Amino acid sequence: LGGSISRAIQQMSNATIIDEKALNDCLNEITRALLQSDVQFKLVRDMQTNIKKIVNLDDLAAGHNKRKIIQQAIFNELCKMLDPGKPSFTLKKGKTSVVMFVGLQGSGKTTTCTKYAYYHQKKGWKPALVCADTFRAGAFDQLKQNATKAKIPFYGSYMESDPVKISVEGVERFKKENCDLIIVDTSGRHKQEVALFEEMRQKPDLVIFVMDSSIGQAAFDQAQAFKQSVAVGAVIVTKMDGHAKGGGALSAVAATKSPVIFIGTGEHMDEFEVFDVKPFVSRLLGMGDWSGFMDKIQEVVPMDQQPELLQKLSEGNFTLRIMYEQFQNLLKMGPIGQVFSMLPGFSSELMPKGREKESQAKIKRYMTMMDSMTNEGNSNPKLMNESRIMRIARGSGRSVRDVMEMLEEYKRLAKIWSKMKGLKIPKKGEMSAL
Ligand code: GDP
Ligand code: MG
Repeated sequence: LGGSISRAIQQMSNATIIDEKALNDCLNEITRALLQSDVQFKLVRDMQTNIKKIVNLDDLAAGHNKRKIIQQAIFNELCKMLDPGKPSFTLKKGKTSVVMFVGLQGSGKTTTCTKYAYYHQKKGWKPALVCADTFRAGAFDQLKQNATKAKIPFYGSYMESDPVKISVEGVERFKKENCDLIIVDTSGRHKQEVALFEEMRQKPDLVIFVMDSSIGQAAFDQAQAFKQSVAVGAVIVTKMDGHAKGGGALSAVAATKSPVIFIGTGEHMDEFEVFDVKPFVSRLLGMGDWSGFMDKIQEVVPMDQQPELLQKLSEGNFTLRIMYEQFQNLLKMGPIGQVFSMLPGFSSELMPKGREKESQAKIKRYMTMMDSMTNEGNSNPKLMNESRIMRIARGSGRSVRDVMEMLEEYKRLAKIWSKMKGLKIPKKGEMSAL
């Protein structure tokens, strides 16, 4: 989706005059991209109408940047489609919240329950998991396994077949144990969920609808079906790591009138990201995701290095040393590529998904050459000539071509990172407010 939309905008940007035709071509291209990405037809049509209303070419005074206005309108419309206009439920300290997960079988509920619990545990909450899926054999074992791995208390039964009974017991028990976030995993059958919602003594404070991003055009109807049987209050879109199409998220928001709060980006516990509308849309439009990037910096770059790194980047100084240190961090901390995958054009080239081992080897190779540059007493990549390149190649036991490749990579990264120039540096303790 991102590719086609940014291409469409690019094409329009390249057009010499932005007239009715250029705008229509661009909108048609975007419409096609959105439909292909499984956004419901009606939503796409509405967006198109709105943009045409906002962007009245005749009214635009001379001197205004029409392209910017059109691009901004598209950005705003996509943001609006993802924003249901009401904030999601938030947990409160000192109070026990019950959160119930619903969604079709296989959508990722059990996996996401654990990710959700783990995420909040890291933030200082005291979560617990309850397995109310009495429908599928093995459901309890799966939850138990996940919970054990994350060291989160769990409750369930191999014998009991009534999900209501298990939920009530589980909630009572964890309330006694002073858990403040009790998560109820369900089977994905509407009937069970309706009974659960109606019969649980403590009604869930929040029902999260979990949706597989690959379900295609079915997203809207599926989300609506769940919304009609239980009071869905938030959406989590899973499997965004695959051939993820963002479109389903837009449909789910429209159908449930609830915000997307997280996305799942893999099978592992930490492959889970807070969903933010603007960065998501930025990414869709190929504009880069700076706030997601900042979050990742906080996760991957050691605390004591963060202020210094941000300071340097804000000054527009992306040095070879920074690249080296960041490579080091990535190799040390993993999961490799997460930071850089936030940046346009980065993950696909330096670290293609599924080829992490090769990427890792490549980065190690780059680092050996960078070591050789430093040993040589001059690590300024701008002062490069043939004889230096040859010396570096010799010093690191690599070919001249390898050195050239590394320098190209540096140039490419420096260009991308230079966008950080002028970035506002948060003061200590303000990082999370970004
Ligand atoms: P449930 O039936 O709704 O409880 O779904 P599960 O949690 O059992 O997940 C079904 C499958 O999807 C499992 O193999 C999970 O590992 C996988 N899965 C869940 N979330 C993600 C995700 O974000 N990315 C990927 N790649 N796989 C996921
Ligand atoms: Mg399950």
